[in-house]
Amino acid sequence: MSEHPVRPFAPQDDAFRWSDVELRTYKEEGTAPFRAVTRQTLFSRPDMRGELRYFEIAAGGHSTLERHLHAHAVVILRGRGAVLVGDRVFPVGAHDLVSVPSLTWHQFRAAPDAPLGFLCMVDAERDRPQLPGPEDLADLRANAAVAAFLAGS
Ligand code: MN
Repeated sequence: MSEHPVRPFAPQDDAFRWSDVELRTYKEEGTAPFRAVTRQTLFSRPDMRGELRYFEIAAGGHSTLERHLHAHAVVILRGRGAVLVGDRVFPVGAHDLVSVPSLTWHQFRAAPDAPLGFLCMVDAERDRPQLPGPEDLADLRANAAVAAFLAGS
């Protein structure tokens, strides 16, 4: 497949969009809990081992709470919110860099009144995310800040 070397940025309806990039749902519905997340795969090439995706979480939405062997390197592009990495919660905003190490619980949440849009660099070939079981959730909620984050407050 030949692609045009430049695919312009084309904001639509107050959302970040690139021309000729398919707007997809974040994951298959019903496979994992999440809310109000879209995904655009900006770069996925057979001659590179990484992929670059852009996710946008609408105000009040969140990504799946998960962990996996592969790591994430994230650049926040717009909006604000908070991120859980391991057993710590951090406020994030535009231009923050977020490192998610291997096998570390993580979740992104947009603020109630602002979206959270970010680039995510990831291995093209990667393991499937693991979801927390009851014991994992109990361990996470033992930390008050994490419990408040997971409750969306
Ligand atoms: Mn992940």
